[in-house]
Amino acid sequence: MTTPTIELKPTSSPLSDADREAILASPGFGRHFTDHMVIIKWTDGRGWHDGQLVPYGPLSMDPATNVLHYAQEIFEGLKAYRQPDGTVATFRPEMNAKRFQSSARRLGMPELPVETFIEACDLLVQQDEAWVPSHGGEESLYLRPFMIATEIGLGVRPANEYLFIVIASPAGAYFAGGVKPVSIWLSEDRVRAVPGGVGDAKTGGNYAASLLAQAEAAAKGCDQVAYLDAVEHKWVEELGGMNLYFVYGAASDQKPKIVTPTLTGSLLAGITRDSLLSVARDLGYESEEARVSIDQWRRDSENGTLTEVFACGTAAVITPVGTVKSKSTEWQQSEGKPGEVTLKLREALLDIQRGVSEDKHGWMHRL
Ligand code: PMP
Repeated sequence: MTTPTIELKPTSSPLSDADREAILASPGFGRHFTDHMVIIKWTDGRGWHDGQLVPYGPLSMDPATNVLHYAQEIFEGLKAYRQPDGTVATFRPEMNAKRFQSSARRLGMPELPVETFIEACDLLVQQDEAWVPSHGGEESLYLRPFMIATEIGLGVRPANEYLFIVIASPAGAYFAGGVKPVSIWLSEDRVRAVPGGVGDAKTGGNYAASLLAQAEAAAKGCDQVAYLDAVEHKWVEELGGMNLYFVYGAASDQKPKIVTPTLTGSLLAGITRDSLLSVARDLGYESEEARVSIDQWRRDSENGTLTEVFACGTAAVITPVGTVKSKSTEWQQSEGKPGEVTLKLREALLDIQRGVSEDKHGWMHRL
């Protein structure tokens, strides 16, 4: 793998300080983008080349560009947080870089070296540092690295040209008015991923295929869809964009234990999910990966042993689960309130990311 250099060609007309500050006062999620982006090309026979940091702007594409037809595309999502000393750090970027390589392999795309992925993210954050919120809360700069097939032509085969791009978008606190549980629609007939498919790759098609189920969930008054395995329709996998955790024993005098569905190949290996296995142990809880059936979820929720359920991912960090609904049933998890273990884990992980508590696992990558 070649490691390209990235040439800096910044804009001469960045957004004014006043306009940027107005955006940062209420950024929302994924609505505003910073002044720059990083682009690196890949061509068969040449490898990675022509890395550049350039002004943020539209891409011009031939209508027959491969990605527009056959969706050969992958992406990542990670955040840069302002630290108490005013510097900026990203959270576990090497994990995103490795998952990006694994998604690339699954989609027949070239692998970007881990150090180039991290360098591209670092350069963009350094250049657009003024866009990293500094209110000390949960705000961050969300980074979206992605890769598309840019060969022109309608042949169905891995393309011989690609673009790797990183863009950045300021993100506000996910729960502006305090942490609120989400309601879940349990999808008993629509599946997200199948064994041998692309469920563990972060590719756009997985999200396109989830939109109808998401719209159906919204029509039933639910915020998110929980998917079951595609073979037995029995094992809980994940939400459309977050992993799930089940909290046992918080109501008894035992040590609380958090359990997350095993990585079977049809769910995404979330970086928040992986981090929480360790953060839970730091807090004196037990944590494990296991298969959890939908019957077990309902039974243990009703008999009171399963005290809390939460979803986790980069965007919201941790989101408590309240109401659970399906075609045949409906129940309230934790009386629809955020649980104590859920909130403690959320605070502990956010404190590491914001640099408020010690980074004992070496997860923060300082620029
Ligand atoms: N599952 C899916 C399908 C996702 O899109 C995401 C978001 N990347 C997650 C889980 C959570 O992963 P992470 O913690 O790495 O953001």
